[in-house]
Amino acid sequence: MDKADFVAVVAALQNAGCRLVVGVPSLGGLSSRTLSPEQAYLLTTDRPAAFASLLGLTRPEYLEWHESQGTVYCSALTKEGAPCRNTVAGATWLCPEEWKARRAAGGFCAAHGAQEDGSPGRMGNDGF
Ligand SMILES: [Zn+2]
Repeated sequence: MDKADFVAVVAALQNAGCRLVVGVPSLGGLSSRTLSPEQAYLLTTDRPAAFASLLGLTRPEYLEWHESQGTVYCSALTKEGAPCRNTVAGATWLCPEEWKARRAAGGFCAAHGAQEDGSPGRMGNDGF
């Protein structure tokens, strides 16, 4: 069955009152989401991309969010030039939407002198 046929069948079922619901791997378990016909097809061809679509993330964002369990990491670099792997205070176990916003805003860990607003403190971005 090609994509157009698959989508047509699912759309016909939905028009008849059926709902296709999937458990998306999320923080602490599964989150139930209703699939569009296109998302149902994507689920059969690229599950992470389907999960990402259902949560409002891109595929790479979904993989990062899921692997980190909704954690935002420090924006500073270590002395060696590698990204700091400490977490930003209060930025763990975040839902996808909040994780995406906090990740875009950046922030610093306690070791890099984060202030209450997440900006760098006296150690700045010099690494440790
Ligand atoms: Zn740090």
